[in-house]
Amino acid sequence: MTAQTAPMVVIGAGIVGACCAFALAAEGHDVVVIDENEPGSGCSYGNAGQFNLGTTLPIALPGMWRQVPKWLTDPRGPLAVRWPYLPRAAPWLLRWLWEGRMERASRHSRALQALMAPCHDVYRTMLGPEAAGLLVQSGHLHVWERAHLTAGDRLALAMMADKGVHPQALDAGAIRAIEPALAPIYQRGLLFPGNGFTTNPARLVQTILRRSGAAVRAERALGFERQDNEIKAVRTNADTIRCAGVVIAAGHASRDLAAQLGLRVPLEVERGYHAMLPDPGVRLRVPVSNGEHTFVATPMEHGLRFAGTVEIAGTAPPPDWRRADILLSHARRMLPGLNTDTPSRWMGFRPSFPDSLPAIGHLPGLANAIAAFGHGHYGISLSPMTGQIVADLVAGRVPELDPLPYRPDRF
Ligand SMILES: Cc1cc2nc3c(=O)[nH]c(=O)nc-3n(C[C@H](O)[C@H](O)[C@H](O)COP(=O)(O)OP(=O)(O)OC[C@H]3O[C@@H](n4cnc5c(N)ncnc54)[C@H](O)[C@@H]3O)c2cc1C
Repeated sequence: MTAQTAPMVVIGAGIVGACCAFALAAEGHDVVVIDENEPGSGCSYGNAGQFNLGTTLPIALPGMWRQVPKWLTDPRGPLAVRWPYLPRAAPWLLRWLWEGRMERASRHSRALQALMAPCHDVYRTMLGPEAAGLLVQSGHLHVWERAHLTAGDRLALAMMADKGVHPQALDAGAIRAIEPALAPIYQRGLLFPGNGFTTNPARLVQTILRRSGAAVRAERALGFERQDNEIKAVRTNADTIRCAGVVIAAGHASRDLAAQLGLRVPLEVERGYHAMLPDPGVRLRVPVSNGEHTFVATPMEHGLRFAGTVEIAGTAPPPDWRRADILLSHARRMLPGLNTDTPSRWMGFRPSFPDSLPAIGHLPGLANAIAAFGHGHYGISLSPMTGQIVADLVAGRVPELDPLPYRPDRF
């Protein structure tokens, strides 16, 4: 194979890799996607499936640090740290707090919105007629048992208003009218009408990948062959694949691959869990976020999924399934009549930067190596535009959406 006919290689077949492969193939590139695992079986498998049109805020917000001690001391709370891992995570956690200052959080919020806002339209283009079974634009309901607004709630609303996002405020009656399956304990709600979800995140990845026409190779990328400022080939456990360029979209594993090319990034793993009920006995019309316990209930094609929680523990320790069971116990309170028989449990690694923004752009000093990783809590929403920016950069075009906030070397 000559250099001219060498393919673009995408490392990683999660939602990010699939969207990058699609956007590159749509421009006429031959694309090879490398992943030793089944496409869509990483973090992109078990998430809550929500896509939103820019309504979401960064995870680190002003004043949030005040809540951290309460969360950490509550065994049923949304955040857990495995203490032996703390020394390794400390620099990331400190940076996370720093990124939560008002001026920075507002900037990150706007950068998230720019990347998310077009996601539904781009998904529809990628999926064509198959969008109908995979995407539901139902709106997204957030509910709280407490009627009053906390300082954090007020701040979140102000930051949304700053972006032109004005969710519909609901009282107890309006919540029940939208979602009768909920227990009558919720006093306050917000409805985000434009948001939606995928009925099956893994099938979403696999469908995009199939429709892209990219070749998928079940191999593990181990390293790169570099000549001057270009990557000439990707070395795998089975072969050396010559390439016209490479996109690193390997989720949390991207940190070590990027480090091989000289880019060191504060990419940390935020472990998240889900519990899924194949026969829940209740039906949700819309996805519901539980404001107090910060998890989402999503009605998927294969059952009702409760997803959320953050555990800082690195990748090595086995899952702590109590985290998934906590979600189920909150779910029982939320939905009377819920049948919690035969739940399945899952844990995944969110690839997260402290500022909640992904890394999208050229690796420093390399003309044909592009980063597309670190989508943290929002990979379903952020991936379609990530693919578009990557295709623009490969084509040498100035991207329509300014990629500066997502520069891989911004830290
Ligand atoms: C509980 C939970 C709920 C979530 N809910 C939402 C939500 O509602 N909405 C939303 O937008 N986001 C959500 N997310 C976040 C979202 O799931 C992630 O941002 C997204 O899946 C990250 O996608 P990815 O492609 O970067 O990573 P992955 O899906 O992990 O894909 C990376 C792929 O790279 C492969 N790989 C790794 N190393 C190599 C190598 N050396 N060679 C080849 N391949 C390699 C892996 O096998 C894997 O398949 C949630 C996450 C969790 C954990």
